[in-house]
Amino acid sequence: MRQMVAQFGANRPGLAVALLLGVGMVVGVGGGLAMTAGLRAQVSNQQAQMESTRRDAQREINALAARLGELQAEANRLNALGVRLTRIGQLQDGEFNFDKPVGVGGAGPVQDMPKAELDAGLSKLKRQFAASGEQLSVLESLLFNRQLDMNSVPSREPIANSYITSGFGGRADPFNGGRANHKGIDFEADVGDPVLAVADGVVSYSGVRSGYGNVVEVDHGNGYVTRYAHNSRLTRTVGQLVRAGQEIAKAGSTGRSTGAHVHFEVWENGRVVDPRNFLAQESPLKLKG
Ligand SMILES: [Zn+2]
Repeated sequence: MRQMVAQFGANRPGLAVALLLGVGMVVGVGGGLAMTAGLRAQVSNQQAQMESTRRDAQREINALAARLGELQAEANRLNALGVRLTRIGQLQDGEFNFDKPVGVGGAGPVQDMPKAELDAGLSKLKRQFAASGEQLSVLESLLFNRQLDMNSVPSREPIANSYITSGFGGRADPFNGGRANHKGIDFEADVGDPVLAVADGVVSYSGVRSGYGNVVEVDHGNGYVTRYAHNSRLTRTVGQLVRAGQEIAKAGSTGRSTGAHVHFEVWENGRVVDPRNFLAQESPLKLKG
């Protein structure tokens, strides 16, 4: 009996400690589990947010990739235009490489595009646009100069709705029947019909010349001078700027002439040449088809 009591007495503090420990452990484990669950929920929540953010970012990248596809298609279109302009302008190839392929165009991506690939695509496209823009600028200035050149080449007719009555070169002299060298071509005209500048230029002579009667001459630059003779009236003075197709005189029959007409000459670098070399010359810019 004494042994049992002693044992119980000895065990009591242990029991108390055990009880305390037991309660503490229950409380501790319970609190730990609750904390873990909370953290797990937080992590899960953050993962969901990150996934959502990642999906949003990927959606934006995919949208940009689709835009990249559109821009590449636009680059292709610009290049095709450049090729066409180069052909129409009959310009030398070589400095123009519009035919160079410009990557894939058209349809957007069918799967997620890595951002690095998108960046690389955008950089490449930027370089392509810069190169195309440069080429188109050069092309524009070349075509512009070509247009200016065309306007200073005596390629139009000096009178509207007319026809040639006498050509350039050797012919029977209309006055004495012998051989004569006709230095221009004659266009049918009525007295008073407007005589037109065949190209842009500056009036370099306006007055009377032996045989030519009232004559006007236009310097077109590029070595070209044109002469319009036998006019009834001169409507321009020396130094005036005239545009192609503008009136420079009224047709007539002054000078050595058998009837009203326009005698038209073209001088190229000081030599008289056949105006037919220029007349009705097709503009290289004229679109065909
Ligand atoms: Zn003539």
